[in-house]
Amino acid sequence: MPVNAYVVETQRAVVIIDSTLTVSDGRALRSIVGDIGKPLEAILVTHAHPDHYGGAAEIISDAQVPFVAAGGVDAVIRRDDEVKEQIIRPMFGDEWPHERVFPNHTINDGETVSFDGVPFTVIDLGPGESPHDSVWLVGDDRKLAFAGDSAYEHVHCYLADGFWESWLANIGRLRSELPTAAEVYFGHGAPTSSPPFDWQEDYIATFVDAIRTADWSDPEAAKAAVVNAMTDYLPAGDLQFLMELSVEPVARQLGLIGAG
Ligand SMILES: [Zn+2]
Repeated sequence: MPVNAYVVETQRAVVIIDSTLTVSDGRALRSIVGDIGKPLEAILVTHAHPDHYGGAAEIISDAQVPFVAAGGVDAVIRRDDEVKEQIIRPMFGDEWPHERVFPNHTINDGETVSFDGVPFTVIDLGPGESPHDSVWLVGDDRKLAFAGDSAYEHVHCYLADGFWESWLANIGRLRSELPTAAEVYFGHGAPTSSPPFDWQEDYIATFVDAIRTADWSDPEAAKAAVVNAMTDYLPAGDLQFLMELSVEPVARQLGLIGAG
């Protein structure tokens, strides 16, 4: 699963931000931390999607360290765990951890937790790309940001949760709240120093428009037309399956196909 996790190394410790989806990737992340040789002080999670917290089970199952989330992120992870199990188990088999671990410490919008003297502050965004998104800012000057999936770095996107209007509003909020020249790290795609917010807005508009203009009297043909339009828009296809998973839920939400 192409997803980013980050290891922040401080003077005497390390902090993980997001922890991948699979057992293998969680173990790989644990071994990166092991190679650094400093104690793991915390895992922070940006949002409520399994590709950002599943692997934590391989990292802190045997050691109790703070696993920190905005309250809403924690609540959605717990609420949706059973549904995610049903969706992900058939796709990933034993690579989806059988025992997930959940955050054990929650904080509110604008609050800070410090590890090894370094402050980590959360911007709690609420619904957006997932049912609950947040961004972590690091350091007193907040010039380092871990922004989860609040924008994708030019890869196909997941819109199936249906909160794209709040997602667009979140982008507006981040434009004003992220310090200028902040280094921003996203959950998918390469690291960037210029957040792809314009591109993300355009991708969302293009996707929703492709769904609205498709002829849903033939749902299979309509879905193919949307997928064609989006792969024309963005030919590179690492995460194309996330976009494909989103077509029917969004069409249903727009009332273009019946429920069920
Ligand atoms: Zn993701």
